[in-house]
Amino acid sequence: MARVFNFGAGPATLPEPVLEQAAAEMLDWHGTGMSVMEMSHRGKAFIGIHARAEADLRELLAVPKNYKVLFLHGGAAAQFAMVPMNLLRGRTVAAYVNSGHWSGRAIAEAKRYCKVDIAASSADANFTYAPAQERWSIDPGAAYVHYTSNETIGGVEFHWIPDTGAIPLVADASSHILSRPLDVSRFGLVYAGAQKNIGPAGVAIVIVREDLIGRASPLTPAIFDYRVQAEADSMHNTPPGYAIYLAGLVFQWLKKLGGLAKMEEVNIAKAKLVYDYLDETEFYHSPVARADRSRMNIPFTLRNGRLDEAFLKEAGGHGLAELKGHRSAGGMRASIYNAMPVAGVKALVGFMRDFERRYG
Ligand code: PMP
Repeated sequence: MARVFNFGAGPATLPEPVLEQAAAEMLDWHGTGMSVMEMSHRGKAFIGIHARAEADLRELLAVPKNYKVLFLHGGAAAQFAMVPMNLLRGRTVAAYVNSGHWSGRAIAEAKRYCKVDIAASSADANFTYAPAQERWSIDPGAAYVHYTSNETIGGVEFHWIPDTGAIPLVADASSHILSRPLDVSRFGLVYAGAQKNIGPAGVAIVIVREDLIGRASPLTPAIFDYRVQAEADSMHNTPPGYAIYLAGLVFQWLKKLGGLAKMEEVNIAKAKLVYDYLDETEFYHSPVARADRSRMNIPFTLRNGRLDEAFLKEAGGHGLAELKGHRSAGGMRASIYNAMPVAGVKALVGFMRDFERRYG
């Protein structure tokens, strides 16, 4: 079967040149006679792969020197726990912005470790917008402020970085990291699961300011302690080596394409293709406030929900896969991460128009 355009939210489509390179290197990585999967993580070859991945990520995001970059197990969900375990630093309150499903999950986990102060929420409008900074009210005793900078299910993206003064800002950037340049210096910590815009599942990236680590709560398991992992170059135990290798190939691919400023340009153009059409038609509907629409995850509904099944089936027939919305949201969702080519987005909009013409 030919490759499809995969609009899945994660695991998600990966750049074809990356998959081709990985295939070419599968049995024999650079004359070592073995696959990256088979290498010792302590060997020279893998240490080189890991170091290059970190250096390229640092270059792409212009990560300042006083930040550690970690590649960790456990996906983004492990960070829901690791952030309070490491960053409470003796305090008992952390502030969270509740902007939808994933911030809700982060909040539920944090409540196991501390009192959660809800600094802002968009629950009043079913999580269809990003609460404006003027409406935030942060407990001055909070150890940090956490927000989900792109809600993967709701399709709500913060297009601005909150100002939390001296209180460290923590972002779950899982579903839009690397889609645009990011001023890392504005954050205490940024984390992201890989399986959307970075690489395969199995690794999460944590970028953390050095002065915030080293005071994990006493019961923190060693592999969940940022300082332990930072001192061990993310290798306190066997790292998810193949996922790190593939992430590294994605970083090289991004650099070759011109880096994150270029990606942002392309991502704005791709999202515009879809939203312009959603704005002109009555047949489909986008629930998200215009100013806060995500460039990466575009949820939409058919006004006539009885056509959902036909829409998905015919889309599949046209090589447009994984458009079904999250089970908690219903409707449709098109995830158009960095690796989704413009041609895929054009094919989607073309199909949507044609479907409307035939059923509208
Ligand atoms: N945060 C966000 C914003 C997500 O989209 C996801 C996964 N869809 C997660 C956290 C959880 O990621 P993981 O499955 O890697 O733990």
